[in-house]
Amino acid sequence: MADTSVPDRNEHAERMWKRNTVRRDVYQPVREALEEMAPGIDCCMYCGNHMADTVDHFVPKSRCGLRTFYWPNLLLACSTCNTRFKGNKHRSDGLVGSLLIDPTREDPFDHLDLGLASGVYRPVEGSAKGEWTIEVCGLNEGKRPRVRAEGWLNLADDLQGWEQARAAGDVRNMRRKIYRMRTQPFADVCYAALHKAVSEEAPLVFVDDDPAVLDLLRDDELRAALQV
Ligand SMILES: [Zn+2]
Repeated sequence: MADTSVPDRNEHAERMWKRNTVRRDVYQPVREALEEMAPGIDCCMYCGNHMADTVDHFVPKSRCGLRTFYWPNLLLACSTCNTRFKGNKHRSDGLVGSLLIDPTREDPFDHLDLGLASGVYRPVEGSAKGEWTIEVCGLNEGKRPRVRAEGWLNLADDLQGWEQARAAGDVRNMRRKIYRMRTQPFADVCYAALHKAVSEEAPLVFVDDDPAVLDLLRDDELRAALQV
């Protein structure tokens, strides 16, 4: 980062960020703006869980004070990712950027593979970014894998419920199912399933699931409704 050699400036930025007036006049409006833009219910930009309630500095203030009030550096994150795991940890990609996946510019699934049945993340083979992101955000820590695995079961049920509603011409119930799928905890499960369904490995990935599930994940109408 450009100004890692100027600790005074970084410390000054840390103090500025903590000022009462900044918390009131900057932090709060920024957080609300990020919440409005987030998919689902305040989706965390790192783990995909809902109810994210903190503003994270993608590149920590302690590493680059100049980015403390820089809009592209501010991401909505849950306190588990932001405070409990990531904190001030930072690793360079060896060039000028961060080794952490930037969800505003990159497709996380280029670096991460989510086992739908296990709820466990693995790095895509050879992806240092995937490895570091899993570690620094604690993506496989605690009950996160279990909640994702349950999310996948719920999603599969909702997919079939949506299809039944469509077959019955029940538009209201179709909308309800879409809403449920888009707002369930760990929205990353839904995005991972949509991503995997159109991959070359899809027949193997969904081999243990009802064949209708894969067909539905490839359904244009459903994909459009879920990805808006
Ligand atoms: Zn999170």
